[in-house]
Amino acid sequence: MKYECDMIEDLLPLYKDGVCSEASKKAVEEHLKECPKCKKMLEELNDTSIDEMIVKEKDSVIDSQSRFFKRKSATVGGVFAAIFAIPILVCLIVNLATGHALTWFFIVLAAMLIPTSLIVVPLMVRENRMFYTMTSFTASLLLLLGVVSIYTKAGWFAVAASAVLFGLTVLFGPFIACRRPVNALLKNFKGLAVMAACTVTFFLMITCIGFTVKSAGFFPKALCISVPLIMLAWAIFAVIRYIGSNKLVKIGVCTALISAFSYWGVELIVELLIRTDNIGTVMYSTWPMSGAVVGIVIGAVLTIIGMIAGSKGDKKNENN
Ligand SMILES: [Zn+2]
Repeated sequence: MKYECDMIEDLLPLYKDGVCSEASKKAVEEHLKECPKCKKMLEELNDTSIDEMIVKEKDSVIDSQSRFFKRKSATVGGVFAAIFAIPILVCLIVNLATGHALTWFFIVLAAMLIPTSLIVVPLMVRENRMFYTMTSFTASLLLLLGVVSIYTKAGWFAVAASAVLFGLTVLFGPFIACRRPVNALLKNFKGLAVMAACTVTFFLMITCIGFTVKSAGFFPKALCISVPLIMLAWAIFAVIRYIGSNKLVKIGVCTALISAFSYWGVELIVELLIRTDNIGTVMYSTWPMSGAVVGIVIGAVLTIIGMIAGSKGDKKNENN
């Protein structure tokens, strides 16, 4: 025998998977012709029924464990739901007994839905936990605001609700966009969708505030200030999301953008405000233009360094 059995044994798994070199393959085949012991070993390797059995057993253990934990979390969720039901029931009875009609009970009910959405929903829901928790939390918060504003006969519901909606979109948007079932729908447009959702809810908030304050000059002024700022936010998003993968270039371009806006953007906003309000001139102070120029220069230098480093990196990769 030309080759030691030990060596062939080491090679057998590679041979079986067809990933060994041509020379090793030849050596193994030659050896197998002469050595019944190694041949038997190869047959055992090919007999994958043992592997399959192990995999099946592992799956069934994991399955029963996860079912056990799901049952347990559903039980804990049920206990919490029962605990939350106690104050609701008490308030229902007290409200009926003292007022002969349901009034502030609805505030308690809506208020109790908030902890329910945060504690019971994630325990009870089997799939898309994050998505359902965040959406039910948002819904219960809006419901509470609605009930309180009806109860107090206040006219601020639209402002409060739209502001809450905008804040939660900024906060939860990125998480919800990355989770099922939303991520399957958005695919490669997650960032774009979050930015669009934030922009829409922002202008919804501005609209609600405008109709609530009922001031004639509100909308022109609000738009003069918000539109340039929203455009800056979109520009920064576009740079971060769509300009290659070089971090230094992104930081450089963003630095230059923000620096330019800090002077010319602010000047533009003031100019727009003066025009819409028919005021002659407005005294205002921005920081000196040289500050913005320094920022732009720093941004440009960072961008150039990033581009040089990037092209060197590319060459290195090509050489490799
Ligand atoms: Zn052998």
